[in-house]
Amino acid sequence: MAQQETDQQATDQQAGNDGFVVDTENTEEREQAYRERGTARPITVVGNPVLHKECKDVTEFDDKLAALIDDMFASQRAAEGVGLAANQIGVDLKVFVYDCPDDDGVRHVGVVCNPVLQELSQEQRRLDESNEGCLSVPTAYAELGRPDYAEVHGQDAQGNPIKVRGTGYFARCLQHETDHLYGYLYIDRLSKRDRKDALKQMAEGTPRYETVPND
Ligand SMILES: [Zn+2]
Repeated sequence: MAQQETDQQATDQQAGNDGFVVDTENTEEREQAYRERGTARPITVVGNPVLHKECKDVTEFDDKLAALIDDMFASQRAAEGVGLAANQIGVDLKVFVYDCPDDDGVRHVGVVCNPVLQELSQEQRRLDESNEGCLSVPTAYAELGRPDYAEVHGQDAQGNPIKVRGTGYFARCLQHETDHLYGYLYIDRLSKRDRKDALKQMAEGTPRYETVPND
């Protein structure tokens, strides 16, 4: 998702007492470790087929996956994003990374493989109407109502089951990135008119990061 205007393997996400991953500790060190091992890659944009179909499940939790995650953090930082899905660097695999603040301004850093968004109960479904942007729809923003709370179940880089939850902007990020891996962009959730307007903003703007040209 686009931003609004240690020696340790940094993949050691631990679950707290409540079973949710603790992704708010050592965020600076962990994010830096990932991105310094990785290489930034250009970002795919709307129209590239890899963004418009469901990605493949991750089945091999190996060094190759770890290297992909490093590249994703490097790419996310280079493009100044708060979340990035693997198909946004052209890789057909269900993985996303994030570096995103929540409603309380607390920074969350992590990675989720094979994410599944959890259904919310009626009282959890408070809609938040905020602006949303996407690195794959460069320079465009649009208001989009989404629940202000989200829970995602999936696996970490080693294949261990994890649960991630977030509020506010981070909840939006978790939904946005999971959508990517199922072939949906946020503009697919807009009215026809708003979608058209977003694509117009994109056509008129120039991204501040490298993108993959569409054929
Ligand atoms: Zn996006």
